[in-house]
Amino acid sequence: MQFRSRFEGPWAEPDSLYSVRSGDWRQMRPVTQETRCCRCGLCYLYCPAGCITDRVTHFEADMTFCKGCGLCAYVCPAAAIGMRDEEQYR
Ligand code: SF4
Ligand code: SF4
Repeated sequence: MQFRSRFEGPWAEPDSLYSVRSGDWRQMRPVTQETRCCRCGLCYLYCPAGCITDRVTHFEADMTFCKGCGLCAYVCPAAAIGMRDEEQYR
């Protein structure tokens, strides 16, 4: 994949969400407290990386693509998602 201009990078490609391992950029990690999740799906709808997965009992992020922006935690009405320092998991 080549950059064509400074305003048109790989992120402009329709399939780039799953061809770029954006999880490598993460400084903070969203951690879902399963018992608090009411399965409203807001995190799924708002995640800009499209990486929230339905785990049947709760929703959680796919760490291969989650870039740690924190939007899911911000929109969660149940405060089920906490942002943790990624260093704790390395
Ligand atoms: S922090 Fe949440 S909203 Fe942001 S990319 Fe990760 S899962 Fe998606
Ligand atoms: S926004 Fe919160 S309560 Fe709703 S599905 Fe996601 S983690 Fe669960």
